[in-house]
Parts: sequence; C-alpha cells; structure tokens
Amino acid sequence: MGFFSWTWVSIFLCFQLLLPRHSLSNCSFRSYELEEIPKYFLNQTQKCELSDWMVGIRRKLHENSELGFEEFETSRVIREKLDKLGIPYKYPPAVTGVLGFIGTGKPPFVALRADMDALPIQVLLNLFGRVVPSPVHVCLCEEMVEWEHKSRVTGKMHACGHDAHVAMLLGAARILQEHQNELQGTVVLVFQPGEEGYAGAKKMIEDGALENVEAIFGLHVSSGLPVGQVSTRAGPLLAGSGFFQAVIHGKGGHAANPHHSVDPILAASNVVITLQYIVSREGDPLDPQVVTVGKFQAGNAFNVIPDSVTIGGTFRAFVKSSLLQLKKRIQEVITTQAAVHRCTATVDFFDAEKAYPPTVNDENLHEFVNRVATDMLGPSNVKEAAPVTGAEDFAFYQEVVPGYFFFVGMKNETRGELGRSHNPNFVVNEDVLPYGAALHASLAVRFLLEKVVKARSQERVHHDEL
Ligand SMILES: [Zn+2]
Ligand SMILES: [Zn+2]
Repeated sequence: MGFFSWTWVSIFLCFQLLLPRHSLSNCSFRSYELEEIPKYFLNQTQKCELSDWMVGIRRKLHENSELGFEEFETSRVIREKLDKLGIPYKYPPAVTGVLGFIGTGKPPFVALRADMDALPIQVLLNLFGRVVPSPVHVCLCEEMVEWEHKSRVTGKMHACGHDAHVAMLLGAARILQEHQNELQGTVVLVFQPGEEGYAGAKKMIEDGALENVEAIFGLHVSSGLPVGQVSTRAGPLLAGSGFFQAVIHGKGGHAANPHHSVDPILAASNVVITLQYIVSREGDPLDPQVVTVGKFQAGNAFNVIPDSVTIGGTFRAFVKSSLLQLKKRIQEVITTQAAVHRCTATVDFFDAEKAYPPTVNDENLHEFVNRVATDMLGPSNVKEAAPVTGAEDFAFYQEVVPGYFFFVGMKNETRGELGRSHNPNFVVNEDVLPYGAALHASLAVRFLLEKVVKARSQERVHHDEL
C-alpha cells in the first residue's frame, strides 16, 4: 500500500471511528484528501498493465461488433471479466445486459452505465463514386479504416465508441474491486444493450437496473474534444427525438390528365413545406426544435401520377413538452394538408414509447461532476458543453433518478483527424480509456463518500439540536 492507500484508509477510519464522536471540522477527513482520489485513480488506470487490459477488451469487442439486443458475445466477455475479478452480477436484464455490484451491498447505491451495442454500417455512393454515410439500406459495407483489429463482421461496426465505453467501465470495476472494502455503499455497474435506437435503457430500468439507485453517471467519447478534457453541461445536454413516417394516398393516373387523378406528390410537397412552419412559426425561438423530412419516395415514371407517396423524418427538442407538441402537430399537419389536396394520410410514430426523451443533467450533480473532473484534470480541462441535437437513451434513467451524462475527449491532433461517429471512418483513440475508467471510479467513490459525510453531518446537527 502506498501513501494514497494509507490516506484513504484514514478517510475510512474517520467515518468508522471519529465521526460519531467529533464534528466534521475536528475530523481527519480533509478536503484535500478527497481531492486526491480522482488523480490517484487516473494514475492507476494509466499504468501499462491496466491500460493494456482495457485496450485488449476494447479491441476484442470491436472485432466482433454486435447490434442492439444481439450483444451475446459482448455480454459473455463482460461476465467472464467480472467472474475473474470476483464481482457478483445479475444476468440477463434486457436480454444481454449485465448488472454488476461492488461494495457493501447496502445503501447508498450509485450506478455507472456503459452502452454495449455496435451500429449497422451502410453506405451510399454519390454520383462521383464517393462514399456518403447514409441510414438508407443501400449496401452493407466494412469498416473503412484498415487496422489489425477492424470489425470482422460485414455491415456492423462499433462506430460510436460503445466498445470503449464497456472497456472503461470494466477498468473502473477493476480498481473499485481492489478498494471494495473501503467503499461506503454499493456501486452498480450497468452494462446496457441497445442504445442505438432500441431504447435499451428503458428495458434495463424495467428489469431493475435502478433498484435502490440514488444517482447514475454515464459518459460518451468525443472526437471533437482533446484527450485529457471533459465537457459538461447542467440541464438539457442532448435533444429528445422521435421518428415519423406517413403514407399520403391519392389516385394515380396519366400525367397528361391530372384532372382525372388526385396527385399525392403535390399534397406531400405541401406537407413537407407546412411541416417547416411548425418550428419557425409555432416554436419558441428560445426553445430549440427540429423537424426534418429525410425520406420522400414516390413513383418511378415521368408520365405517371402515382397512387401514393411515403415521407418520413425526425423531430427533436430539448424540452419534453415541446417534443410532445411537435408530435401532435406533425400528425395534424400531415392529415389536414393531405385533405386540402383531396388525399388521405396515415401517420406512424413507430413505437412512440421508445422515442428518446431529452437528456437533462441534474443541477446538483453538475456541481459534483465538475468538482471531481477538476480535481482529476485541472479547471482548464473541464469545458462547458454546447447542447447537441443528437439523442441518447441515457435520458430514460434521468427520468427515474438524478443522472449526469458528459463527454470525454479523445482528439489528439498529432495523430490526425478522427472520423466522426456513426461513420465507417470512425476511430477511437485508445488513450481515452484510462480517463473514462478513472472518471467512472472517481465519481462513484466520491459520491458514496460525500453522501456518507453529509448523512453523518446531518445526524450530528440533529443530535446537537436535541
Ligand atoms: Zn451512436
Ligand atoms: Zn453512442
């Protein structure tokens, strides 16, 4: 045991022995000791052995990229590592999910979440033969970066960094397990499947992931932020999102005789234009919202008016009531605009329950996360994040308990540009792994320690008042 372990033991003794008899100010539990924990953990996770261990896990998962709720091998690797570390777990919440437990097995409980799924990678070639990333099912492609551990599964790839997230949480699990006897409560490791559009978080909650949990933390790697930095934001960080598809029915016929037809293309065109008025004329300019039509499919001949048109798109907002209002108005605009042009329309919001709510960071946890991150990285490396109109199913956890989501940087300019996420050129800079693992571990330990200190302090005040 080095100096730090001794210090941490002194913190522990302080809780166990001194606090019941002395006020906090008399206690050897001093703020600078708490401040040392994040740096200590970073020091541990940056050691070659642990860092290489995480890199090995991440590469193994990357080679065998699996989509949402199909992460069977990923789940097996996680359980194998937890078994080796002697960490008990529950399996299988949400089909392939894993819930690990470290510490006393008693309250308080704090949760750390890692998503596990990869992405389908499809590409569209534009007129010049250049690859355009597209959600359209045109063709399956391979990861486009050549390296030893590239995905071996055609059409699937960890292009959002969730392989790194799993490796980081296992790295945190390893150092937390080494200190299991010093934990002042229980850390719940939430290995969650199906983040990429499957609302896996919702299923994990239904299967008990947040039982007794008082707070949850999650992170995401960021290609735009330098390695060694984090970016955080109180309140809305990511938008809530939903999807819609509508079929507008008219009456097909010869293009030369439009008066014998009911033209769904004209109706759908007006629908698309009118949908844009929802945000520009009805939305509060200070409440950012998006309605985008990304799909418009109709006919295949120059001289035929088709029977129907299919359109589809997404809507986004940072406030849940605004998201619900957008959904309501999209339905109304499509059906009424279709009627104006003598057409009928059906609108599908798919599984509306799986629409992602906005990711809203708890204000109290914002202050806490900033303190912990600053203690580890220094104040200049903790940046204010701008809100992003992307969505995250971490938001489901935040609807149940206070939660905090933040970004961890992995950009290293000396190694050139990292490809953007959801793109076959995406690259993870593995130097980020020790930072993510140390942040996870630090947030959990500090949350539990500060919780106990606060509780003891309140007990003391109560006792003094009596
Ligand atoms: Zn993603
Ligand atoms: Zn992601």
